[in-house]
Amino acid sequence: MANELRLILGDQLNAAHSWFKEKSSNVTYVIAELHQEANYTTHHIQKISAFFAAMQAFASALEKAGHRVIYLSLDDTQNYTDLPALISFLITEHEIKTFSYQLPDEYRLREQLADYCKQLTIDSKAYDTEHFYLADNQLASYFKPGKKHRLEHFYRKMRAEFNVLMDDDGPLTGQWNFDSQNRNKFKASDLAEIPEPLVFANDVSDILKRIERHDIKTIGKAEKQLLWPVNRSQANALLAFFCKELLPKFGQFQDAMTGKLIEFGEDKGWSLYHSRLSFAINAKMISPQSVVNAAIDAFHHNGNIDIAQIEGFVRQILGWREFVRGIYWANMPHYAALNALDASLPLPEWFWTGNTKMRCLSHAVTQSLDFAYAHHIQRLMVTGNFCLIAGINPDQVDNWYLGIYIDAIEWVEMPNTRGMSQFADGGIVGSKAYAASGNYIKKMSDYCGDCHYKVTNTVGSDACPLNALYWHFMDKHKESFTNNPRTKMVLSNWLKKPESDRKEVLTRADFLLQNLDNL
Ligand SMILES: Cc1cc2nc3c(=O)[nH]c(=O)nc-3n(C[C@H](O)[C@H](O)[C@H](O)COP(=O)(O)OP(=O)(O)OC[C@H]3O[C@@H](n4cnc5c(N)ncnc54)[C@H](O)[C@@H]3O)c2cc1C
Ligand code: SF4
Repeated sequence: MANELRLILGDQLNAAHSWFKEKSSNVTYVIAELHQEANYTTHHIQKISAFFAAMQAFASALEKAGHRVIYLSLDDTQNYTDLPALISFLITEHEIKTFSYQLPDEYRLREQLADYCKQLTIDSKAYDTEHFYLADNQLASYFKPGKKHRLEHFYRKMRAEFNVLMDDDGPLTGQWNFDSQNRNKFKASDLAEIPEPLVFANDVSDILKRIERHDIKTIGKAEKQLLWPVNRSQANALLAFFCKELLPKFGQFQDAMTGKLIEFGEDKGWSLYHSRLSFAINAKMISPQSVVNAAIDAFHHNGNIDIAQIEGFVRQILGWREFVRGIYWANMPHYAALNALDASLPLPEWFWTGNTKMRCLSHAVTQSLDFAYAHHIQRLMVTGNFCLIAGINPDQVDNWYLGIYIDAIEWVEMPNTRGMSQFADGGIVGSKAYAASGNYIKKMSDYCGDCHYKVTNTVGSDACPLNALYWHFMDKHKESFTNNPRTKMVLSNWLKKPESDRKEVLTRADFLLQNLDNL
């Protein structure tokens, strides 16, 4: 009779975990499609399909390897109010003597399981997920609550500590940061060279039927043939494709955006040179170490990957990914309520449809609804920037990002959204608000030429809305921003403009703010 129940959550599909080194008939693993997880926010339908398909694939692989596994679908779990109710049932049903789980990455779930275990009369045990570079119990020595941490400092420390791209005591090639070389825009001739993305065709039609049968509210375009990787071998194939085809230009074009390829009927404008590995990594099908090691191996052996490309990539995973996790755990739960800029407007309707005349936003939102994906700069400088300068309530912004993206799990979504993009944490994640006018979009994309609005204009009915909104935002927060060395200069230029000019811009911004749904 099995007497230990081990819970595996949907984002804990780590086949390399020490749990699986030994097989025992005394251990039963449970993987369950939970109504509470499908409903805690309105998810993109591809995101739910991808998680369920990956969970099923993981359960089958464990079973094949000789482990005892119970897989429960939405049908099986519908009568349990929540996860604790389900576990209690399984404990009784299978005469369980010990309940074990891996520490959830999300505060909400970690609290739920910790509270549940407190009132259990059998033994319970929480394990590290063995996924991140830093173990859970190391985070507190790197991150302090409320402290304004900086990525660059943390990242260099991580490079040295894990001996990644190092040469004795210094960075390989003598330079830590290649950001300034990694800001290219696509020229017309670059567009033709962008590789077609490697996509998969995982049949999720049964899962879609289940989602519908259980009336789970979703957003986005459903796909019966899911293109996202749902098992370790697909994740590895995507990683190999990235290292060979995309890494050679990853850094160079990591901030670039284009709307041209969709017009030409080509399906590669959404993926560009990005790895699209975030879902596979966040679900733990593949480890951050194996991704970084494979990329560095390609850098050493392929001959067409320069240091700026590999450094740009390593920075995202060894740096940003570990960094935002540390910020999250040091500051939860109160991080979730921070609203340093007192932003309060509702998210415009077109965030759910893509139906706006602003070409950059229409492209980013439509792509997100179609693929459950947008790359970093689309998230930060298109949708995120709009919400920031328009003063949208960060709860609503967080909620949108948490639902729409394939890789959205709160520990990574929230510090990126509420912190980096909305500055609602007052600078815990970043040293300044990432606010920009239309000029930034013009510099990094080809959207503006095809837009209804004129990017060079700030006032007038056809002026790019981002321009007046940007100045309105800077003006509104001038007291706090004049003390920030990174925004001081811009503000002083604005304040030097004649009062009548400023008034005209602010009047245009007021009009836009009252008509956000119609832009
Ligand atoms: C407002 C906003 C919300 C975001 N929400 C999420 C989210 O919910 N989940 C998520 O995984 N990422 C999030 N990011 C970070 C980043 O945008 C995505 O990780 C990336 O776009 C995923 O696509 P990719 O795999 O093609 O990444 P690539 O561009 O190929 O980058 C490689 C990998 O680096 C990691 N990475 C890159 N940037 C970050 C970052 N800022 N924080 C953490 N990891 C990073 C990811 O694991 C990613 O797979 C968000 C960024 C912003 C600005
Ligand atoms: S003109 Fe303004 S709204 Fe239009 S695409 Fe350019 S930045 Fe976006």
